[in-house]
Amino acid sequence: MKVAYIAQNINNTLLGTLSAELGEIILFNSIEDFVASALIPTALIVSTGFGRELLQPLINSLRKSDQLCLTPIVWETDGEFSTYYKPLPVNELKKHILEIIILVQEIEVHNYSSWENRVLAYFYTRPAFHIIPELDKTKPIFYYYPHVEQFYDGAEDYFFWLEEMTNQNILAKTRLVDRIFCCSSCFSALLKFSDLCPHCGSINIRNEKFVHCFTCGHVAPESQFIKDGRMVCPSCRTKLRLIGEDYDRPLENGVCLDCGNYHIDSKLSVVCLTCNKTFSTEDLSKRPIYEYKLTDAGRAQTKFGTVNSAGLIVNELNYIVINQMLFMLDWIVAMQIRYDKERFGLIALQIIPNNSASGYDLMLELARFLRRVVRTTDMCSKLDHNTFIFLLPNTDSEGLTILVERIAEFVKSMELKQGRFETKIAWFSSGVEDISDLTARELLEKVSAKL
Ligand SMILES: [Zn+2]
Ligand SMILES: [Zn+2]
Ligand SMILES: [Zn+2]
Repeated sequence: MKVAYIAQNINNTLLGTLSAELGEIILFNSIEDFVASALIPTALIVSTGFGRELLQPLINSLRKSDQLCLTPIVWETDGEFSTYYKPLPVNELKKHILEIIILVQEIEVHNYSSWENRVLAYFYTRPAFHIIPELDKTKPIFYYYPHVEQFYDGAEDYFFWLEEMTNQNILAKTRLVDRIFCCSSCFSALLKFSDLCPHCGSINIRNEKFVHCFTCGHVAPESQFIKDGRMVCPSCRTKLRLIGEDYDRPLENGVCLDCGNYHIDSKLSVVCLTCNKTFSTEDLSKRPIYEYKLTDAGRAQTKFGTVNSAGLIVNELNYIVINQMLFMLDWIVAMQIRYDKERFGLIALQIIPNNSASGYDLMLELARFLRRVVRTTDMCSKLDHNTFIFLLPNTDSEGLTILVERIAEFVKSMELKQGRFETKIAWFSSGVEDISDLTARELLEKVSAKL
């Protein structure tokens, strides 16, 4: 075990204890020295004396590197050790580090090129950790996930990634932490609320007590009924003595100082400070914030590298987003109806992820096979995370059947070879079936319904 210890002031007694526990300790007086050494230690002990501003960038850069993204990091504060979540007595340091190292070695398919894979591997190697959100008033939705952000490369909204992983049963929601109002357009929670006159929209409104005269039915703010210290109706001049007999309190409770109208409830208006859109409160979205944990299925898929392995297919083919596919399909349908010659085919292919050591290799093999058999003019898109749709322009039913048979045969040969590889295939040929009344979306639904 080769442990790096970064601290400004080294206490020799502490160093002696650490060496006795862990063996070789390599000392660094500064973060820069450690980074410059390019050392790949078994574990890292970092003094928190450097302060959060210096430590966070170090952690972020380690977690973004292929080789150090899973390295155990232990904090040292005044001679006491801790992980993120709990204090760690010095005689438990070795056990803690070894537990992580063993789990790191368990991961069979190493693919740490994407932040998603790194973060999943991190939680695989820290089974007790939950993915916990923390409050930060500088963030647009007030919450962030520090453990995810240290890996995250900023490419997309990682909250959607958490949601997507939950849909795929890689992560599970373990606790609802909060539900916050946010802009339904950009999901920011930086919102400004103000109440307005419901009649003219002015902010110049005031709360008032109102009086309702039983004799003539007049309703007005109480101030208009007070005359020489008594209550007199300004409309019919009746003296109002007893509440419930002469008058009562109506529901109105606000008056607009601009238009003069009375109101029961003012109107709440919300302005999003991020995108500047104005909403009424009914239009706001509510965004739940959860705590997550890696599921057993997620652990198996992380170990065998099959999380998002369907993505391999995307990398190998002419992949377009579903809206582009719909656009192309509508165009091809219009061509066929107008010129009566463009015949096309659709193939839907569903691949059920396989939680075994060979899952990743199988997916790679399938992706390469598909690249060989589909033409450069064929297009591929995704209906959901494991269902692909192929659009084959200028293909008659005969050509389509041949391709479907080849795919089915290949899948079968893989099943024979490796076992447990679940796929479903369905197809549609515009040369055989009627397309005249169908939109692109209906066509896709028609073919996926056959799966
Ligand atoms: Zn009256
Ligand atoms: Zn008004
Ligand atoms: Zn907004």
